[in-house]
Amino acid sequence: MQEAGIRQSLTSIIPKIEAIVGREHVTTAVEDLLCYAYDATNRHCRPDAVAFPANTDEVSDILRLANEHRFFVVPRGAGTGMTGGALAVQGGLVMVMTRFSRILTIDTDNLVAEVEPGVITGHFQEVVEGKGLFYPPDPSSASYCTLGGNVAECAGGPRAVKYGVTRDYVLGLEVVLPSGEIIRTGVRTAKGVVGYDLTRLMVGSEGTLGVITKIVLRLFPFPEVVRTLSVVFSRIQDAVRTVCEIIRSGVVPRTVEYMDQAAIRCVEDYLNLGLPVDAGAMLLIEVDGSLSAVETAISDLTDICKNCGAYQVHVASSAQEAKDLWRARQAISPALFRLGPDKINEDIVVPRNRIPDMVEWIDDLRKRTGLTIVTFGHAGDGNIHFNIMLDRRDREILEKAESAVEELFRQTIALGGTISGEHGVGITKAPYIGMEIGSAELALMKRIKAVFDPNGILNPGKIF
Ligand SMILES: Cc1cc2nc3c(=O)[nH]c(=O)nc-3n(C[C@H](O)[C@H](O)[C@H](O)COP(=O)(O)OP(=O)(O)OC[C@H]3O[C@@H](n4cnc5c(N)ncnc54)[C@H](O)[C@@H]3O)c2cc1C
Repeated sequence: MQEAGIRQSLTSIIPKIEAIVGREHVTTAVEDLLCYAYDATNRHCRPDAVAFPANTDEVSDILRLANEHRFFVVPRGAGTGMTGGALAVQGGLVMVMTRFSRILTIDTDNLVAEVEPGVITGHFQEVVEGKGLFYPPDPSSASYCTLGGNVAECAGGPRAVKYGVTRDYVLGLEVVLPSGEIIRTGVRTAKGVVGYDLTRLMVGSEGTLGVITKIVLRLFPFPEVVRTLSVVFSRIQDAVRTVCEIIRSGVVPRTVEYMDQAAIRCVEDYLNLGLPVDAGAMLLIEVDGSLSAVETAISDLTDICKNCGAYQVHVASSAQEAKDLWRARQAISPALFRLGPDKINEDIVVPRNRIPDMVEWIDDLRKRTGLTIVTFGHAGDGNIHFNIMLDRRDREILEKAESAVEELFRQTIALGGTISGEHGVGITKAPYIGMEIGSAELALMKRIKAVFDPNGILNPGKIF
């Protein structure tokens, strides 16, 4: 079914797109367009059409067509992005990459894999683990987001505290530039420094510089032992002080996640796992390595946590118990909707020794504004997920929340931090980018965008 409101320019081009990808892989049916009109920001922008290419040449042909006829193309993985990157804010064609779903090679001799961007991150992790290998980046959305979306956003996750973020695993890429030209960046070897680092430029470029069609990823051997600890505190200040002490001590856990009381209560209400609902805060710490290294780390961590005021330090006694703790952590985001139909979600990062200052400042903000604010996140790397739960139809609360976010960003930058650790800029943070990036640097970024995409056809309205 053709949609009546489709812009004339794209209507006449649909047959050409169908000729590239096949009729069954293009749609303008309203019910389909609605499915590709949203992401995790809960904002809706209906595209004019959606196409599902299956190979690099098809992507290239579509982008050539877009340049010729000047229509917008918005790359999309699973649509789990938190900042609106996959939304067709100015209409056009959404290019869904989920048919790029093959793991092409897993080279166990060289610890390298080559994948297509539509592979689901959690599936890739399971497949490499089956071969005794380890792909550390673990966004909490891993069971449904794509590796292409992870590269485009430079996704992080709990394990970043020890293993870094997606950027640290991308050795090379195949990318289709907005002109339709196909390039290969980076290396297939463990290291390489020839020429400018185009791979790093592409990682985190939020689908604005090119469409990623292949990804070469670095792997690690799977750790011998992994143990998960839950640590419970009466006071949130003690929990965040513990994080600073852990970092200072030189022990390097692979995760240090924290949940405040509101987050604990929401998840418990949602999943009934027996979480300590009266606690002020909880830390979820994971350590990995050889058996002896893990045992030493657990002993050191237990001492640090108790010295900082933890009233319970518990090592999960089974894989199921550890899984349940992670299920609780991963459920925070959806569980929060029990507190309101809409969420403003920010992922600021501060230097790790400033986390206590930031948490105290947020507590004061909560008291001053009366807003429903919940915090949790990757405390081990200073990344605090700050959520305001609200009903956007209440204009007064919405305005109060928006000015609280602006205050939050100012405070973050004053403490030496950054306004986004992993969710990117997209459309939601675009108005604030100038608070962090200087005018000369912004102008250079815009010139880079113009070199890659002189006609501005790829993912317009994002970042700047
Ligand atoms: C419950 C929940 C928990 C989350 N937890 C985390 C977390 O712990 N850490 C974290 O970093 N993020 C997290 N996220 C955010 C999100 O999952 C990540 O940003 C993820 O990388 C997006 O992947 P996606 O496939 O859904 O991409 P999409 O949302 O579809 O797209 C995201 C961006 O990538 C671009 N893009 C997608 N595919 C390509 C491609 N092949 N080529 C070029 N550009 C492309 C899009 O244009 C868009 O700008 C979470 C989200 C949810 C809903």
